[in-house]
Amino acid sequence: MKYHIITYGCQMNKSDSERIASVLEKIGCQATNKISKADLIVINMCSVRQSAVDRVYGLINKPKSKTQKIILTGCILPPDKRKMKNKADLIFNIKDLPKLPLMLKPAKLTNLETRSPNNLETWSPNYKSPNYLSLSSSPTSTFSAYVPIMTGCNNFCTYCVVPRTRGREFSRPVEEIINEIKDLIGKGYKEIILLGQNVNSYKGKIKNKKLKNLKTEKYIDFADLLKLIDNFQGKFWLTFITSHPKDLSDKLIKVMASGKKIMPYLHLPIQSGDNEILKKMNRGYTVEDYKNLIHKIRHHIPFVNISTDIIVGFPGETKKQFKNTAKLMKWVKFDMAYIARYSPRFGTIAANFEDNINYEEKKEREKLLTEILKKTALKNNEKYLGKTVEILIGKNEKNFSWGKTKNLKNIKINYAYSYGPLTSSKNNSVHSCHKLPNPQLKNKKNYFFNPGKFVKVKIIKSTPWRLEGFTRI
Ligand code: SF4
Repeated sequence: MKYHIITYGCQMNKSDSERIASVLEKIGCQATNKISKADLIVINMCSVRQSAVDRVYGLINKPKSKTQKIILTGCILPPDKRKMKNKADLIFNIKDLPKLPLMLKPAKLTNLETRSPNNLETWSPNYKSPNYLSLSSSPTSTFSAYVPIMTGCNNFCTYCVVPRTRGREFSRPVEEIINEIKDLIGKGYKEIILLGQNVNSYKGKIKNKKLKNLKTEKYIDFADLLKLIDNFQGKFWLTFITSHPKDLSDKLIKVMASGKKIMPYLHLPIQSGDNEILKKMNRGYTVEDYKNLIHKIRHHIPFVNISTDIIVGFPGETKKQFKNTAKLMKWVKFDMAYIARYSPRFGTIAANFEDNINYEEKKEREKLLTEILKKTALKNNEKYLGKTVEILIGKNEKNFSWGKTKNLKNIKINYAYSYGPLTSSKNNSVHSCHKLPNPQLKNKKNYFFNPGKFVKVKIIKSTPWRLEGFTRI
């Protein structure tokens, strides 16, 4: 039996899909890249934006073969669940993933034997653990792994569905996280990405008395967890998403600043640069708080890469309030910003506010912020010109490779430049590198590095969205 998983939304959903794949493989299913070849089509949904929901409606309404079955999971709002009920063969709450094999047979989705000898406890009908994150995962990458440390959210931002779809915060026990990460490092993983809707409010139960030199009793916070992982043996980089500005502590900034493996990268959603709108969004901080935080972070962590999320056209956002967001963006000089046009989500408090900013105006506001971002991101990236940095290779294409720096800057390695000496002249400018014409790259295969390899790259070009460089082969 073949399965194909379609994932929408955030990294948490991607990570959940890796766990779904692991469960299906344990009962004998095999992955296929082709949707047409799949017996089971699993759609892991996201309800944060209407566009993602619309795409799922498009998918489930497409004609499919009679033998193909559709399974829906992820963030699904009750009205969508009701409407999709007749189109899907099974809809399950992601927290019930340990019971998925038991649901398949009664739903007539498979004849496979759902009891695996090694997983009797997991597949038992009496399985009660609410922690589906304790299931093993099948990472899609061979060198970069997501490790969820918590799920759910207690914040109730007025526009957000997450506390309704994922429920309240739940932190995984410390030992479980440690074991998963040690296993990944042992298998050669080079990048560990800790996940959670709000990692800063992580509060994990600890059993091992030896870990008590962290001066903790039964629980540890996120800064302590990060410090603990940072001290693991081996060469790897460590990062995390997402942080809530109101919960990012001085302690965490210090742990990041002194970390050996922690990547100097922070995704810190601001959402708006206007205090009245922030209050209406129930974000729990002011513009001044955010600016102070940025100031502290930049003071302690040089070359930190800061990205953010912004919503334009929130109900009632006046032109003046929007301008405050533009002003804040210019002040912070973000490296990256994910700018979303507001759309009302069922069941949220903001859905009761009048969505009074028209589509064209939202589009215009998005465009204006993107222009600001382009300028600040380019200016930030220009600081890297002439520098030699360590990067982690991600993937290879025809004449170049993609990678990322330790502070998560995307970088393209152009092999047309690759014969140049690493520090070729006194002048560190673009022109100092030794560019060879493409025909000299006779045996291209030999010039590529494997994904997951750390290499040194000299930066010779910058754009708003990436750096470009060469490496000595
Ligand atoms: S912090 Fe706010 S935006 Fe983030 S998941 Fe929680 S409710 Fe949603």
